[in-house]
Amino acid sequence: MYAPPTVKISPAYPIADTMKAWVLGDPGQLQLTKKPVPVPGKAEVLVRIDAVAICATDLDNIYHGPPALIAGGPPFNKNWTPGHEYMGTVVAQGPGVDEFAIGQRVTVEIHAGCGQCKRCREGMYTSCHNYGLNYGDVNKGHRANGFTTDGGFCEYQVNNINTLVAISDAMTDEEATLVVTAGTAMYGLTELGGLVAGESVVVTGPGPIGLLGVAVAKALGAHPVILTGTRDNRLKLGLELGADHVVNVRNEDAVETVRRHNGGKGVDYVLECSGAPNAVNEAARMVNRGGKICLAAFPHEQAPVDIAHIVRNNIYLFGIRGEGKSATHRAEAFMRQRRFDATKIHTHTFSLDDLPTALRYAKDRVEDAIKVVVKARHVAAQKVAAE
Ligand SMILES: [Zn+2]
Ligand SMILES: [Zn+2]
Repeated sequence: MYAPPTVKISPAYPIADTMKAWVLGDPGQLQLTKKPVPVPGKAEVLVRIDAVAICATDLDNIYHGPPALIAGGPPFNKNWTPGHEYMGTVVAQGPGVDEFAIGQRVTVEIHAGCGQCKRCREGMYTSCHNYGLNYGDVNKGHRANGFTTDGGFCEYQVNNINTLVAISDAMTDEEATLVVTAGTAMYGLTELGGLVAGESVVVTGPGPIGLLGVAVAKALGAHPVILTGTRDNRLKLGLELGADHVVNVRNEDAVETVRRHNGGKGVDYVLECSGAPNAVNEAARMVNRGGKICLAAFPHEQAPVDIAHIVRNNIYLFGIRGEGKSATHRAEAFMRQRRFDATKIHTHTFSLDDLPTALRYAKDRVEDAIKVVVKARHVAAQKVAAE
């Protein structure tokens, strides 16, 4: 049994020495294997992973490589386990840890950063200057689980206590995996800065971050909140999550319609979640002079941008990476208070053993999949019942 000398465990949560873990081989090739259960160090705990959601960025990592960065290079054939949007139960504490008790349910942020660079010290640990440096003689201790260290498509993972968000028992496992998605939307709005009740927001692109961006903006008191996209079923979900208006850009001119919905004027903020090639230019024409645009999606191609328009109109452009500045805690606070129902974007659940099917559902949007969740214990429970 698992009993490393420096780690506190509890008989309530017996842990085997090895665990199931998916590892990435060549691009797109995952294999189910066994790994030793990892050992938490100082300021770390061991989390038993109860549920993990699939993110579009997982698909980038698995099929293309970046932004995953393992031992200074692409993540392929390095015995690396992807997956980053997970939640679970604390089952072991590293030396000195008393911030989270064994048995506490938690959801996680991805980035612990290195904790020692300028950006980490500013709370911008998702922009850590030592990204990926955690090996050999460049070991700065950087952790971004599922990007630069092992992630959540397995049974247990080590997390720095600063990446944990305590959750209440009223929140289901599936809903808890969505806290980090809402946290990313929250971080985008935090970085835009200054949003107060009654200011106008456009969210472009009704993917998971865009849809929860609508919900978070609304919870912050923004008005009107306008969502643009190409699929009516996703736009309908946006209305359920609080959008005041939706615009199907296939049928209507996006810029003109946004302005019409905002009394003929440009809006204060755009949260760009579509990654469309002309998204920046359209966003720059949706905002008013001095307006702010946050870029939360990454297109795979470079795109020409009308910089003169941005300069003449004093428009601010921000890129964000992940969920920095503890935005996840603020998102969880809204979810705990039932200010919006994030579970509306959860569409499918599979067992951990069926990860390749789950990934296919997410990638090909099978049956209109939005958020696909994978559960290890779910299967164990079903098997017990069947025996
Ligand atoms: Zn993600
Ligand atoms: Zn850092």
